[in-house]
Amino acid sequence: MDNCVFCKIINGEFGTEFVYENEYAVVFKDINPKAEVHLLVVPRKHVESLNELDDEALLGKLMMAVKDVTKKLGIKSYKTLINTGKEAGQEVFHLHIHILSGQMHF
Ligand code: AMP
Repeated sequence: MDNCVFCKIINGEFGTEFVYENEYAVVFKDINPKAEVHLLVVPRKHVESLNELDDEALLGKLMMAVKDVTKKLGIKSYKTLINTGKEAGQEVFHLHIHILSGQMHF
């Protein structure tokens, strides 16, 4: 998707380091962390938000990526968050799951 910052990250345009990746998703650190650990789980496929998601299996794959990356990094306690829609605070219109752990700054 042109002009989508997360599509550009997925395509390697910014040289963003992936802390985890698989066939369906990549995981990288949030550039403006709201917690001691703040990761974003992002599907490789461009979907604007949960409102546009029609692939039931993809949601399961994303949650499994949450499980796998937290296990890989030894993160045992964490929150997950999906902002859907501008008024709910969604800034990047490419579906993503926030993983927040440790001290939170909000
Ligand atoms: P949301 O408000 O749910 O759409 O979350 C978007 C998140 O993406 C915010 O927490 C931003 O800090 C983060 N973000 C925006 N651009 C980048 C980037 N280039 N690399 C990493 N995280 C980003």
